[in-house]
Amino acid sequence: MKINKILIGLCFLSFAQGATAQDLQVSKKLNKSLQKVAPQALQAHVSYLADDRLLGRKPGTEGYRMAVDYVVDHFKEMGVQPAGEGQSYLQRVRLRTAVPTADARLTVRSTTAAPQNLIPGRDFSIYPHPEQTQVEVEAPLVFAGYGISAPDLGYDDYANLDAKGKIVVVLRGAPEQFPSTVTAYSMDLQTILRTAANHGAVGVILASANPKAGVPSLQNGVHSIMGPDGKVAVSRNYVSDQIRLLANINQPTLLHLMRQAGLDLEQTLASMKKGVPASAPLPVSIAAQYSSAHQDFDSYNVIGKINGSDRQLKEEYVVHSAHLDHVGVGTPVDGDSIYNGAHDNASGVASVLEIARIYANLKEKPKRSVLFVMVTAEEMGLLGSAYFAAHPTVPKARLVANINTDMPTLIAPLLSVVPLGANHSSLENPVRQAARHLGLSVEADPEPDQNRFIRSDQYSFVVQGVPALHIKYGNKTADGKNNLDERVKVWRAKYYHKPQDELNDTFDFEAAKAYVQLNFLISYQVAQNPQRPSWNAGDFFGTRFKN
Ligand SMILES: [Zn+2]
Repeated sequence: MKINKILIGLCFLSFAQGATAQDLQVSKKLNKSLQKVAPQALQAHVSYLADDRLLGRKPGTEGYRMAVDYVVDHFKEMGVQPAGEGQSYLQRVRLRTAVPTADARLTVRSTTAAPQNLIPGRDFSIYPHPEQTQVEVEAPLVFAGYGISAPDLGYDDYANLDAKGKIVVVLRGAPEQFPSTVTAYSMDLQTILRTAANHGAVGVILASANPKAGVPSLQNGVHSIMGPDGKVAVSRNYVSDQIRLLANINQPTLLHLMRQAGLDLEQTLASMKKGVPASAPLPVSIAAQYSSAHQDFDSYNVIGKINGSDRQLKEEYVVHSAHLDHVGVGTPVDGDSIYNGAHDNASGVASVLEIARIYANLKEKPKRSVLFVMVTAEEMGLLGSAYFAAHPTVPKARLVANINTDMPTLIAPLLSVVPLGANHSSLENPVRQAARHLGLSVEADPEPDQNRFIRSDQYSFVVQGVPALHIKYGNKTADGKNNLDERVKVWRAKYYHKPQDELNDTFDFEAAKAYVQLNFLISYQVAQNPQRPSWNAGDFFGTRFKN
């Protein structure tokens, strides 16, 4: 039944309804365009973007600006239209770095003992505040388990807890029964903060259950995007004025706090893991005092567009995205301090540029318009994409799908793929069709524990209700051993987020070509199908974030 709906209105594409398969029919013209994808062009993009001169493309630096110029020049040369602010290709993104300044103070107060000052850097660390330079807050503590409120999944840490006006202490985790994507979503700091705010909390303390772990250092600061009103528009560690404190505490401090309420950490954890909340008030208050210094700078998302051909559907947009930034210059490894980010994510930008070129060269454009969005500050916490998805330069309701590309890991022939997130929506079908056309097999995510679906820019679209996906490599290898993950593991250890992620012989640009063809064919089908992509009925993300 579904197939018939998809058939309607496809122009280059149609489905031959065989007894078993529904193969995607790609016109000669379109196949020709696909064949024209040039591995050398992909290599040239990576070569430029990952050059030492760009100094690791850190937002706010000259190197990032050079990367922006490079994309703009190529959009122009290809005939891709500007779709940023005011006829330009750019969307300005005002970034703020907040760093902790003077010594932060965290004091435990109780009616039975003298106030106890915790030791900064050892017992606790406090996230700098992105809006206020001085913060003081004092409130009673409650233990709020994982900080999860998901009654629809039969688990609610806040069910019998009064968190109003309190500071909540939470442990990062989720009950065993949660599916991996739901676990990933539940453990996301944004989710924890929002849930706490919704229950009236004024602070969140993230506790470690690991006796050996130190508290994370926040000395390098945290990043946010500021809106035109001077308020935080996007942040991973701030949700509203209401939450005045976000801190980490180490395990001994947690034990100390729990003991005062007669709670045993091991028992509590075991109960929560089994899906039985163990929330409880703690008979102490916490007084916090800290200050933050702010530094603002501008960065840019770069946005190009191909106008659709259908009078109505051209007002809707299929979005290809890739992050243009990387982490800049840092700690030297083997004498090299420039983190070039060739795979991460010059290769993704290169892919999207060549996808744009295919569209630009098509005589007959697809029905819907296609956006190419190179986002900034992914490495600072998916910030640029979050800003674009929340404040797009086209009407938000007109974003129909996102196909993201982040470090495809083009180190071997592309034989199979893992479409992260596609199983949540109708996007699964175009993925399967495109993969079959190219002779690629589709695999399920082999590492659901890595939470990759929420770890890149596609997630920014998901939380705005836009079905999204990200094509990763599958495990298939040419020798039939199908153990590419082992090779990827070795590769990751040596190159991922290291200065050694440079243009080198780890690249397979023929694979990059196949990757471009695949991603193009997916968005092309979406752009042609009169029916807009939709979340699967009852889908966890679809239900939570549907527009
Ligand atoms: Zn990346």
